[in-house]
Amino acid sequence: MLINRETTINLKCPTCGLLTAHYLHAFSFSGASFPRLKCSCDQEIAQILKEDKEQYFLLYLCPVCEEEHVFSFSGEELWSNVPRGLSCPDTGEQLGKIGPQNSLSGKLETIAEQLQGDDFFLNPELVLQMLDRLQEIAANKGLSCQCGSFEVHVDLFPDRIKLVCRECTGELILTAYQKEDLNRLKKRISLLIPGYTGAQNREKGL
Ligand SMILES: [Zn+2]
Ligand SMILES: [Zn+2]
Ligand SMILES: [Zn+2]
Repeated sequence: MLINRETTINLKCPTCGLLTAHYLHAFSFSGASFPRLKCSCDQEIAQILKEDKEQYFLLYLCPVCEEEHVFSFSGEELWSNVPRGLSCPDTGEQLGKIGPQNSLSGKLETIAEQLQGDDFFLNPELVLQMLDRLQEIAANKGLSCQCGSFEVHVDLFPDRIKLVCRECTGELILTAYQKEDLNRLKKRISLLIPGYTGAQNREKGL
């Protein structure tokens, strides 16, 4: 299971040299300010700006040449499933990489951290618990689509969680802001996305 529109940025800290990992989700850009990536040594490593039409800029103080570099990405590039290396444009030296991490472990924690003081979700604590439960269901192979696929993306909204089948784009929406939403999900051992079977695809002319 993957959460849609997320990526991880790995960059070396210009001060202490540590290779740091920063989890980034579309909702990282939902607040008033843009995400700043910090090292555990407290040095600010990079900043990410977003402009209209989903253009992203990564501002990074290069530890090799000590200049600030600006890397630009389209939304498609930033949220791509294909990892890409980041290298110093002057020296060609590898600085880090950007790309998805496929395991959800540690991610929920990072999401929780990023959500502190963020008002994206109506009920952030509840969303986390629901994601946790979804992860359990998925781990037991209980999350699938009618079309037979187990490849499910998760899209997060302030008041709901959308499960999307990657094969047929069938969708299942779970409301996620009140206690009953969580209780209902806790009782489920499986979730089936109403997807499109082969016959339906033929009718749709796909
Ligand atoms: Zn550092
Ligand atoms: Zn450089
Ligand atoms: Zn499907």
